[in-house]
Amino acid sequence: MNEHDSERISGLLEADGMVPAASEEEADVIVLNTCCIRENADNRLYGALGNLKTLKSERPELQIAVGGCLAQKDRELIQKRAKHVDVVFGTHNVQNAVKLLKKSQNEGPVIEILEEIVEGDYEAFPSALPIRREVDHRAWMTIQIGCDNTCTYCIVPSVRGPELSRPFGQLLDEAKNFALQGVTEITLLGQNVNSYGRDLTKNLKRNNLSDFDIYQAGSLWANDENRRIKPLFGDLLKSIGSIEGIQRVRFISPHPKDLTLEIVDAMSTTGSVCEHLHLPLQSGSDSILSAMHRGYTGERFLTKVQQARSEIQDLSVTTDLIVGFPGETEDDFEDTLEVVAEASFDSAYTFIFSQRPGTAAAEMDSKFIDHDVAVRRYETLRHLVNRSALLKHKERIGRMEEVLVEGKSKKGTDLITARTRQNKVLHLESHAELKSGTYAQVEVTDATYNYLVGELREVIAVPTHRKRIPVMAEQSA
Ligand code: SF4
Repeated sequence: MNEHDSERISGLLEADGMVPAASEEEADVIVLNTCCIRENADNRLYGALGNLKTLKSERPELQIAVGGCLAQKDRELIQKRAKHVDVVFGTHNVQNAVKLLKKSQNEGPVIEILEEIVEGDYEAFPSALPIRREVDHRAWMTIQIGCDNTCTYCIVPSVRGPELSRPFGQLLDEAKNFALQGVTEITLLGQNVNSYGRDLTKNLKRNNLSDFDIYQAGSLWANDENRRIKPLFGDLLKSIGSIEGIQRVRFISPHPKDLTLEIVDAMSTTGSVCEHLHLPLQSGSDSILSAMHRGYTGERFLTKVQQARSEIQDLSVTTDLIVGFPGETEDDFEDTLEVVAEASFDSAYTFIFSQRPGTAAAEMDSKFIDHDVAVRRYETLRHLVNRSALLKHKERIGRMEEVLVEGKSKKGTDLITARTRQNKVLHLESHAELKSGTYAQVEVTDATYNYLVGELREVIAVPTHRKRIPVMAEQSA
């Protein structure tokens, strides 16, 4: 989501007539888009700002802006610690970045942090702004921002605010527009995508629906005589997945407690929705899950995974795991190992707990786990996860996979990287016809725990995206 915000900031600057600079030394404007979910985000930000100080003193006309969730959290502190910063903006006013840069040219340093999005201000959603996409055949769409959950390790609710969904009709229009531009893969983004739309249906009329109601909640909801207050994520998958030209629909991240059978059904019956579910488990211990405020047990999680696997053929399931959460005992960790072994994940992002100031878990310091213990648990868990991933990948040797070509591989110049529908990275030998955005059939010939190797068998479709024409802002008088 943070990368997507960066695309939008770049798009806004380009729409205002700027062009990308080849290096920091040549830039007139440098925007640091921060994410405080990552460890050491503040050290990295102030380190980067320290490096830019010399540049700013040599060229005082250079403008430096800091946005994103660390800016939302630290506010005035940023300019206190780095006086050469011209603009600080938060997560709810990305759309004002250009205006604030201009204001600071005339008035000096500016800070604008909004507490929350002004109701109905859909420009505040990153997806509703101009965009500069790095790849032409793939697009991200923010369907919802903020989060109503209270996971005790997470800073998101306090820096991104409560859940707010974009209108259904607006998302459909945007996806159709992407398809017309030659985009074939869309990834839906949100902090908890499967609760998308619950806020939209809360305030709508149940009878005598207006066009506004239908635009907000979509025709599938409007045609359902019950018209309950409910999430609309299943409807959204079906509708976006039926748009002509969209071959792949992905989404991150769903919350296990909100993964309903309706969503699983939408995934299994909509051909373009990829067979991949990233479902963050975090821990397999019920007491740690409760301390994390996750709202499910290890067993409930496994039931959801099993339901999804039985409905969706060839589903890959990946996850996020945290070890060393405050109070985690050896028994808790054993429970995690058991659930992870039972779930047989295709891969997992594994983290050692680290405190995020401002979260409830950061206050549990009396229960912090010794670092060496956490590292040992982390390594045991990684070993288990890698073994499960390797088994899953080896099972695919000899199979034909539909892949979407991403581009040159970082592993070598004569290789290219592609992605399967199950979101697995696959490397294959370069062929002239395999441009970025091409769909091909590839036979899997080898596998490691984190990628597949294959040989081209057939090109299915070549990219059709049009050349991008920059959108220019109106010239001021
Ligand atoms: S669901 Fe939990 S972890 Fe995810 S964004 Fe919300 S509070 Fe954070």
